[in-house]
Amino acid sequence: MQQAQAYLGGELKKIGASGVHTQSVPVFAWRDAPSIVEIRSPTKWSVESFHNVHSAAGRIKAPVLNAAIAGQDDLDRLGRRIEGAIVLVHGNVISGSLYLPLPQRLEHIAERGAAAIITASMDPLGCPAIELVGIKQDLPIPAFGVSHEDGRRLASLCGDGAKVTATVEAAGKSYRGKCLNLVAEMGPKRASEEDIVLSAHVDCFHVNPGAFDNLTGVVTLMEIARALAPLRAKFRRRLRLIVFTGEEYAFWGSNGYVRNNPRELERIRFVFNMDSLFDATAEGVAVMWSPGMRDYIERVFRETQCDVEVRNLFCMSSDYLPFMLEGIPAARPAHFDLHQKFPPYSHTRLDTPEKIPIDWIRKNAMVFAQMLLAMLVDPRALPAKRHSPDEVSALIEQAGARNLLAGLGFDRS
Ligand SMILES: [Zn+2]
Repeated sequence: MQQAQAYLGGELKKIGASGVHTQSVPVFAWRDAPSIVEIRSPTKWSVESFHNVHSAAGRIKAPVLNAAIAGQDDLDRLGRRIEGAIVLVHGNVISGSLYLPLPQRLEHIAERGAAAIITASMDPLGCPAIELVGIKQDLPIPAFGVSHEDGRRLASLCGDGAKVTATVEAAGKSYRGKCLNLVAEMGPKRASEEDIVLSAHVDCFHVNPGAFDNLTGVVTLMEIARALAPLRAKFRRRLRLIVFTGEEYAFWGSNGYVRNNPRELERIRFVFNMDSLFDATAEGVAVMWSPGMRDYIERVFRETQCDVEVRNLFCMSSDYLPFMLEGIPAARPAHFDLHQKFPPYSHTRLDTPEKIPIDWIRKNAMVFAQMLLAMLVDPRALPAKRHSPDEVSALIEQAGARNLLAGLGFDRS
């Protein structure tokens, strides 16, 4: 990741960005190791698996129980049989627009005395997803990711009434380290004391090639910077480009940036973060906690004759979240048409660059470069008032997100 940042920094200098530098931030990182999931009875079966990121190492032989989505009801139904068992759980659950963090559900299972957990992927791709299951510390028991198909086969073995036993073994290890955010600026030094942030994260999980999530965002950021550079003398406010680290490990890079740069934060009016882009995301923008900016962006797209739907939508999926929690208006490219599906191979070993049509990058870069340019050259003030801490608390309450934020490691007490 540090090599990637060094390369991108060099490219940004060539494009004409100024103040290109890196900032070190702490990360709770992960060293992976091969894992074993071996079914012993009623049949012998060696299941492909990953040791889930930030779960304990260990070797366990125990009965396997199916806990479905591991909701409260599912766990109550299994009762004390959970104690000492290996518990099978299905992957992420999305409820409305809110993502129910897997770490919280797995913690409940560990609290009930399970010895290990197997998480099954959501999508039938023939390979396991890579899941983050601890945020600031390890889940105290080992957890293993298996494919959707293997998860179903295992669930049906459990459902047949036969006693299923397995041996599981994991040796991955968490460690505390440092990684780099890359920061650059574009625009006249004496522009107004206002910054617009354009950001994307460069990291991915260790066995995930990370093409969709998030080479798409990083390359689009670079192409927008390249397109806007010749116009930078006309900017009325500065464009701040940030390539974050540690997003996949619960926003370590953006969190670190927000903590370490209080003076910059005073100047930032708006954050536009690009994560996991495809053709449909060039047709939508989700604006968080700023109806004024939603109206503004909709007007920009009317004037530039881009057919983009702009919605007020509460979400907390990526590196804009720490800025939002500081009261700064934020937005992201978004797709609202449920028929246009997010590629399911994100966060698996199948997320490779040849699957990304170059048109996805072109479409997103063209649409969002125009939007950002309109903001950067506008002589009028942006309708982007920063919320006070009390207002942020009220907005979190209104969104019913206090527990979810705690589950993502944000302590708002
Ligand atoms: Zn991402």
